[in-house]
Amino acid sequence: MGISFLNAQELFTESYTLMGSAFELTVVAHDKAEAQAHIATAKHEIERIELLISSWDSNSETSSINQNAGIKPVKVSKELWDLIDRSQQISKITSGAFDLTFAAVDQIWKFDGSETVMPDADLIKASVSKIGYNQVQLNKEQSTVFLPQKGMKIGFGAIGKGYAADRAKQMLEARGVVGGIINASGDMNTWGTQPDGSPWTIGIVNPMNKEKVFSWFSLEHNAVVTSGNYEKFIRIDGKRYSHIIDPRTGIPSNGIISCTIFASKAELADALATATFVMGVESGLFLIDQLPNTEAILIDDKGIIHRSKNIQIEKN
Ligand code: ADP
Ligand code: MG
Repeated sequence: MGISFLNAQELFTESYTLMGSAFELTVVAHDKAEAQAHIATAKHEIERIELLISSWDSNSETSSINQNAGIKPVKVSKELWDLIDRSQQISKITSGAFDLTFAAVDQIWKFDGSETVMPDADLIKASVSKIGYNQVQLNKEQSTVFLPQKGMKIGFGAIGKGYAADRAKQMLEARGVVGGIINASGDMNTWGTQPDGSPWTIGIVNPMNKEKVFSWFSLEHNAVVTSGNYEKFIRIDGKRYSHIIDPRTGIPSNGIISCTIFASKAELADALATATFVMGVESGLFLIDQLPNTEAILIDDKGIIHRSKNIQIEKN
C-alpha cells in the first residue's frame, strides 16, 4: 500500500489558440478533472486580457484610446492604465527601442511575404512622426490616457502575451496549483517544480540549426521569451528584415535573428526581447547586464551566439 502515492501528482496539458498564438497550458494536478478546471480558469483569464488589449475589437478600451487620439483623454480600467504605465516605463528604460506607440508604423509593413520593396520613404517618415512613448499622457487620479496626436496608436503586440501569461500563472498559483508552464508559442512562463520536485528545464535552439538544442537551462528565472520569429520576415534586395521595427526609424531591424530573455516576469521578458532585438548586440547586452535578475542570449545573423554576463552555457 503505497500511501505516499495517494498524493502523487502528474502533468496535464491542454492546447488552444489564444491571442492569435498557440498556447499550451500545463499544470501539476492530482487528476484530469482537477487539471481541466484549473486550465479553464487560466484560459478564461487570457481571453479576458485579449479583449482588454485588443486593437482589432473596436469596442475594447485600447481601441477607444486610439480612436480618441488627438481628441480627448479616455477613462480606462485601473488594470489597463497600469499596463500602459508599465509599458511606458519599459519604453523609457530601453530609450524607445520598445515603444508602446509603435503601432502607427506597423501598418505600413506587411510581413506575409507580399512585400519586396521598401515602403515609400515619405510614408515611413509620416508614420514615425506619430510614434513617441513620451507623448502619451497618463493621469493616475482620473485613470485616463491621452494620445495627443491624431493617428497615434498604442499596441501591445510585444508585451501582451507576456502580461497574459503572468496573469494566468498568478491565477493558478492562487488556486494552489504547485507547478506549471504557460507556453505561448515558445514564450515560457513557469512556476513551482515538476511533479517529482525537479526544476523545469528549457532547451535553447539555434535558428540556424533548428534540429539541435545547443543548451539546456534550469529555469530559475521563471520566464523565458524569444523574439525573432524566423518565420516572420521580409527580404528586400537580398537583405532579411524581421517583423520587429525600430520605432525611431520606422525600418524593421536586422542584425539579430533571435533574442532570448530570461526574467522573473514574462511581461518584462517579452518587452525586453523586442527591445534588445532593436538595440542590437552591444547596446542590448549593455542594458540587460544592468538589470537585476535579467539575462539574455542573442544570435546574430552570422549565427554567432552572444550572452549576458551571468549566462553559463552548459556543454552537453
Ligand atoms: P513575437 O511575434 O514572437 O510575439 P515580439 O514579442 O517581439 O515577437 O512582438 C512582435 C510584435 O510587437 C510585432 O508583431 C508588433 O506588433 C510589435 N512590435 C514590433 N516592433 C515593436 C517595437 N519596437 N516596440 C513595440 N512593439 C513592437
Ligand atoms: Mg516581445
